[in-house]
Amino acid sequence: MNILHYVTQKQEISPKLKKLKASCDAAAVSKDEAAGGSSPSKDQGATGLDLYDKEELQKRLSPAQFRVTQKLGTEKPFSGKYVKLKEEGQYNCVVCGTALFTSDVKYDSGSGWPAFYDVISKDRVALKEENLGGLQRMEVKCAECKAHLGHVFDDGPKPTGIRYCVNSCSLDFKKHTTV
Ligand SMILES: [Zn+2]
Repeated sequence: MNILHYVTQKQEISPKLKKLKASCDAAAVSKDEAAGGSSPSKDQGATGLDLYDKEELQKRLSPAQFRVTQKLGTEKPFSGKYVKLKEEGQYNCVVCGTALFTSDVKYDSGSGWPAFYDVISKDRVALKEENLGGLQRMEVKCAECKAHLGHVFDDGPKPTGIRYCVNSCSLDFKKHTTV
């Protein structure tokens, strides 16, 4: 068992993440059923560009937001506006406004991107296995509009052990307001 072997192992998607994907998929199906169940293959087809006019999106989003959410881009580590943000509030999808994460589950992972150990609800995100030149990762998308958010890893803190590593560019922070 050499180091190379170990590294190769680490690049595979863990059973824990596959299980998480299965529960997100199940949450999406039951949400569809509640809504009438007309689109069982929602996960396969639609992309953000089907739901939104590309030109409209390009005007509305910044170039970086467009690149990250629509072209699977990644912002430079420590460059995002929400990496260090500690204010209380909610993080919504920058494209469609779906509520994704709260400040309660945000933590400093040291990776250079905002990190969350849980989502508001598992039906808000869609996970997709990604294989780029042998590097296998689990991509996180907005379940509603399919905007690329980032990736999910299994090295998060308790209680979930999950790390949603999300680009600031994919998020729109709304501060909590006292009513
Ligand atoms: Zn969205």
